[in-house]
Formats: sequence, structure tokens, C-alpha cells
Amino acid sequence: MIGLIGLGQMGGAMARRLVEQGQVPRVWDAHGPARNRAAGQVVDGPAACAAPVVILSLPDAGAVAAVLEALLPAMPPGGVVVDTSTLDPLAAREFAARAAYLDAPVSGGPAGAATGTLTMMLGGEAAALERARLALSLLATRIIHVGGPGAGQVAKLVNNLLVATHLAAAGEAMRLGAAAGVGPEALLAVVNAASGRSAATEVNWPRWVLNGAFDSGFTAGLMRKDVRLAMALAEATGTPLATCAAAASAWAASDIADAEDFNRVSARIGGIA
Ligand code: NAD
Repeated sequence: MIGLIGLGQMGGAMARRLVEQGQVPRVWDAHGPARNRAAGQVVDGPAACAAPVVILSLPDAGAVAAVLEALLPAMPPGGVVVDTSTLDPLAAREFAARAAYLDAPVSGGPAGAATGTLTMMLGGEAAALERARLALSLLATRIIHVGGPGAGQVAKLVNNLLVATHLAAAGEAMRLGAAAGVGPEALLAVVNAASGRSAATEVNWPRWVLNGAFDSGFTAGLMRKDVRLAMALAEATGTPLATCAAAASAWAASDIADAEDFNRVSARIGGIA
């Protein structure tokens, strides 16, 4: 039995994937419309999601703390909470001190969740991971145990700081090319066959920017959260970041609203949209 709390872009897709794989997860979201469109067995609160493996997909540490308050007293012996939300590694360590809790942020977006092809980076006890592994293998093709509590979140923040920096840099580079007379389609054909490529140029620009789709399922607000958390980690660890700090400033200063697709920030820097 699997529980799943948080049925937004990611959690909603995970619920559908679990049902496709023959599971009937017990699911809950604080927001009524998210519950109404959810796959699985909708229950009447976080405690009713208690199960040997409970997956969380929530916006931030505050939401996770509120859910754990209700959920933990109801968890069965040996039960594991697997938190796929992106949040502060320090918060993850606090949660892990209270329960069998794995920080397990993911990469791959709603499309990866829907097809069970996420990359999951975990922090926490190896024994707890082994108890959850079978359930997690329905959602993720790559399950990487990074280290102790919080290590998964550190890896996720490093990854997303790179994504944000690559997207800002790709936007600037496309704007430079266009100003000099070569448009983004022609530039991407070259960059993606040469050494300047990144996921920003190979995936984001072709899939969500150039065609005007902007429907990745990841908002600018959530990326800004990740960038803020990464910069706070840099401050807390006394790590000066010049290049990534410039990109972080560009994300903070962009006039793209939090509710918009995150690729619009790169497009706006690139002079498109
Ligand atoms: P989302 O905003 O679409 O969904 C979050 C859901 O959590 C919402 O349905 C909301 O109603 C629910 N929620 C909030 N507080 C709650 C509470 N106290 N109890 C129960 N439900 C509550 O967000 P998302 O895009 O699905 O992202 C979820 C998490 O995964 C975030 O931490 C995000 O940073 C991370 N993430 C997202 C993506 C992506 O591409 N969308 C990719 C990787 C990681």
C-alpha cells in the first residue's frame, strides 16, 4: 500500500502513474479541485494516507511540516515517508530526526512522473530506502542514494542552480546571436551539435520556448524558490558564488510572474516573449 500527499503537477502525475502500474494509492491534497481530479483512492486527510510507504509532493518545508504533524502518529511500524518536494536541507535533517524520513527530490518534471522515468536523489538511511525501493521504482528509473539526511536536497539544489544558470546564460547567448543576425533556430542547430550545449539548449528551448508552448509544468515561482534555497545554502556554508549569483539575480529581477512557466524567464532574457 502506498500513500501520496500533494496532488499538483508532480503528485497528480505520480498518482496516475501508480494507478497505471496497478496500485491504488491513498491520496490527499489540501486543495479540493486537486483531490477531485486525482487518480487513486481519495481519503479524508493526511493521517488516512498512512501506509508502509508514503510519498510527499508539496511546495515547501512549511507544508511538509504541517502534513507530518498529522501523518506521523498514524504511520505503521517500519513505515517510510519519502519526500519528493524540493526544500532546505536543514529542514530535511530536522524531519529525519523525528521519523523514518527520506529526502528524495526528483528531476524530470510532470512528464517524467507520468512515465515513471524520474531521476530521484535521496538522503537518509539505506535501510529505509530498501523498504521503499519497490514503490519508488514505479516512479523513477534512476534512484541515486547520495548520502545521509539532507544530501538529496543538497544535490537537487546544486542541480537546479545549474539549470537556472544555464537557462539565463542560454537566453543571453541567443540574444547575442540574434543581435548579430543569426536567429535562435540556426544557433541551436549549431550549439546542440557542438560543445556549448546544455539541457537548456537541447531540451528547454526546443521543447518549450521556440514553439511558444511554455507548458513544462514547472513554474517560475518554484524555480525561484530553488534558486533562493541554493543561494541560502551558499551563504550558510560560506561559499562565494559569482556566476551563479548573477544568474540568481536575473531570476529574481525578471518580470515573469511566479505562476508562469519557468522557461519564460529564459525566453524573456533571450528577447523572445
Ligand atoms: P504544485 O504547486 O503543482 O503542487 C503542490 C500541491 O501541494 C498543490 O496541489 C497544493 O494544493 C498541495 N498542498 C500544499 N500544501 C498542502 C498541505 N499542507 N497539505 C496537502 N497538500 C498541500 O507543485 P509541483 O509542481 O507539483 O511541485 C511539487 C514539489 O516538487 C515542489 O517542491 C517542487 O519544487 C518540486 N518539483 C517540481 C517539478 C516540476 O516540474 N513541477 C520538478 C521537480 C521537483
